[in-house]
Amino acid sequence: MSRVFLASRNAKKLAEMERILREHLPDVKVLGLDDVPAYDEPVEDQPTFEGNALVKARAGLAATGLPTIADDSGLCVDALNGMPGVLSARWSGSPKDDDRNNRLVLDQLADVPEERRGAHFVCAVAFVSADEDEVVVRGEMPGRIIGEVRGAGGFGYDVVFEADARPGVTTAELSVAEKDEISHRGIALRQLAPQVARRLRP
Ligand code: IMP
Repeated sequence: MSRVFLASRNAKKLAEMERILREHLPDVKVLGLDDVPAYDEPVEDQPTFEGNALVKARAGLAATGLPTIADDSGLCVDALNGMPGVLSARWSGSPKDDDRNNRLVLDQLADVPEERRGAHFVCAVAFVSADEDEVVVRGEMPGRIIGEVRGAGGFGYDVVFEADARPGVTTAELSVAEKDEISHRGIALRQLAPQVARRLRP
């Protein structure tokens, strides 16, 4: 069975990625950070999602020798000129705190009217292996920032975000299958999976 290393520390994000990859790459064993010897993870200092995903994937390959998948994702808010973007995880400072991040975004948009509350999630996923070219794909989920926190599922900014594809509920109120179907991460991974399968074929 081919093996691929999924280089991500965020447990909830990892669970989403594993779920989608297992469905689309049933013949590939997906290893996580706990399955490989510890290594120094790189600083995510690139200005783009694609750049950060590649940095993480290259570091995973260098440390493990295994074909590696890594993602970088975030929320881009129109009224904040596309921020927090690549700074999403620590938008309200360190250490990373989802509740504080959500409160900050809601405060920053407090006076922004309904029609200017557009936003989208972005996910870039990179695949690198020793003897193949690098692949980077991108998925986006358009929607809007609501006025309060709502829902108990998902993670991060899901509690303040309604997707255009599912108006009236936040992405934290969708089932995991419903979110995977429309999410930036689902779109990117479904695009990546056949390319990974082709490159890992014995
Ligand atoms: P990363 O680990 O650098 O990719 O950080 C991504 C950050 O973006 C997360 O910590 C969340 O704050 C946010 N984010 C990315 N994808 C999602 C999502 O599907 N729902 C909610 N927040 C997300």
